[in-house]
Amino acid sequence: MTWVQGQLEEQTTAGGNAMAPVTGEEPLRFLAHVSRALAAVWEDPEAPLGEVARLAVGGVATYCTVDLFEQAGGFRRVAGAHREPALEPLLREAPSFSPGTEVGPLYQTLRDGQSHLFPDFLPEHRELAARNPEHLALMERLGPRSMMLVPLGVGGRTLGLFTFAACEAQRRYGPEDLAIAEELARRAAAAVEHARLLREMRRAERATRLLAEAGARLGTSLDVVETLESLARLMVPELAEGCAVYLAPPGEAARCVAVAHADPEKEALLRETAWRYPPDMQFPVLGAVQLEGPLRVRAEVTDGALAAQASDAEHLRLLRALGMRSLLGVALVARERVLGAVALTRGEGPGFSAEEQQLAEELARRAALSVDNARLYHEARDAVRLRDEFLGIASHELKTPLTPLHLKLQMLQKQAEAAARGGAPVSPGRLAESLEVLQRQVRKLSSLVDNLLDVSRITAGRLRLELEDMDLATVAAEVLGRFAPSAAQLQCQLELHAPVPVFGKWDRLRLEQVVTNLVSNALKYGAGRPVVVHVEADGPLARLSVRDGGIGISEADQKRIFERFERAVSEKHYGGLGLGLYITRQIVEAFGGTVRVSSALGQGSTFTLEVPRGDYLRGPVD
Ligand code: ADP
Repeated sequence: MTWVQGQLEEQTTAGGNAMAPVTGEEPLRFLAHVSRALAAVWEDPEAPLGEVARLAVGGVATYCTVDLFEQAGGFRRVAGAHREPALEPLLREAPSFSPGTEVGPLYQTLRDGQSHLFPDFLPEHRELAARNPEHLALMERLGPRSMMLVPLGVGGRTLGLFTFAACEAQRRYGPEDLAIAEELARRAAAAVEHARLLREMRRAERATRLLAEAGARLGTSLDVVETLESLARLMVPELAEGCAVYLAPPGEAARCVAVAHADPEKEALLRETAWRYPPDMQFPVLGAVQLEGPLRVRAEVTDGALAAQASDAEHLRLLRALGMRSLLGVALVARERVLGAVALTRGEGPGFSAEEQQLAEELARRAALSVDNARLYHEARDAVRLRDEFLGIASHELKTPLTPLHLKLQMLQKQAEAAARGGAPVSPGRLAESLEVLQRQVRKLSSLVDNLLDVSRITAGRLRLELEDMDLATVAAEVLGRFAPSAAQLQCQLELHAPVPVFGKWDRLRLEQVVTNLVSNALKYGAGRPVVVHVEADGPLARLSVRDGGIGISEADQKRIFERFERAVSEKHYGGLGLGLYITRQIVEAFGGTVRVSSALGQGSTFTLEVPRGDYLRGPVD
């Protein structure tokens, strides 16, 4: 037995003295009038409901209300009209339509999707229908005597219901009235559905237009800031009132790069706020920039939130002056990297919907892709420039030893030819000297070629190590021994401090190569000042440092000299391919170690490498 059947004796076959105001031709005329009124273009899907309530009061009811069912439970009153305008505010009070009171005729209508007719809604029925004392008091004041509850069914779902009430003592609703009320509800549902579809269509049109514009605007520039300014202008005013775009380059603090606001005064304020205060203090969305927070935020902006966010009173004043009420933040993500974030704001009025969030995310994704493409383009251009420079230097470097080689060979050939013609034989001393020059140039050439081969091996991931036990101190002494003649020629003092052996397990040739690179650089860039090499053990690590008192390296250059082809000196003054330190770092890292530099321009440099001693356990004491 339903609540209605049990408690209210619902009468679907009402008789009685219905003093129906709509009879005979009237219903048709009334419904035609309703249809004309509802034929308007409704921007807001809920608006036709208010119109229907108003029309009902003109026709079948003393008062009429419309309640929509809320997802979370309960009802939301969206319209109420009363023949006595003074009583209309009472209809908005609706104290009992909250979740947790799921009994009574309203819920019955919602559950079964059927209309319910109560020809005699007597004072004692009010008590039964009332959900709480306030509701009862309200009904007492409104004084309904006959009642119809009609569901609002849109697209096969019951979205809410109409309540039609007659308060005159002689008025009793009958089936004809119910038929009219149901027709009214059907026409209202059609208007709601129409308005909803229209809104969907407009939204889709707007989204398509925005996305088309995004395609046209965002892909055109290779300038990152220009792209993000376009994004901000695209978002405002279509999607938001205010927009601030933040970039967070890897390893750098996030910064605001573009702002836009529908109101020019507020745009200036937004710019000031964004420029003056660090990004993490402005919007919660910047959690996204810091890679920790969620990649999207959709929130209401309360004064409390602003106060919590502001770093000082002035900051709070600026944030308040912006008049933000809702916020939508989306991260700029491209190729799974967060590049920055976009904060969108709105003032009073509806906040951002889920669809708008999706659209903002799509626009942000396209902008992020453009930004990333610009980055890739610049990187590719830099790589090509670097390669061209390298080819220039490499040809020059390879050619340099060839010239003396060629000259010496020509000379030797001439002397040999002269000797063959019966001239003086070549003296053994001159011959030895020439051969030494030839040897040196050939060594230089093969070391250049070896370096190039090493780079291609490293790039292809084919750097193989053959580990064996050895003493780093001995390796250093041998390498320094090889440099002794050239150090003497440069009148440069070469010192080794290696008081005890430092045993470990490494690849001998690669370790020699690393020490050779560092010592040869120290001699090359050391301006003839002493070069000191230290070798020591530090627990499981072996450490070798090479200190020179030469030209030094600026802090900015220190960051890049370990990269391929990177050089910090002019090729006019110093030859070289910019590969030695790159190869050094790759080898040291293959050993599981590190290499670093500490230096200042004009103050000399110290390169220090630290490598694990591997599973070398039985070495003599450190
Ligand atoms: P190359 O010496 O062939 O240019 P490297 O990779 O060995 O290549 O070194 C890269 C750059 O680092 C050099 O061009 C030079 O600018 C700088 N550099 C290396 N070692 C030193 C040093 N001891 N003092 C000053 N600058 C150095």
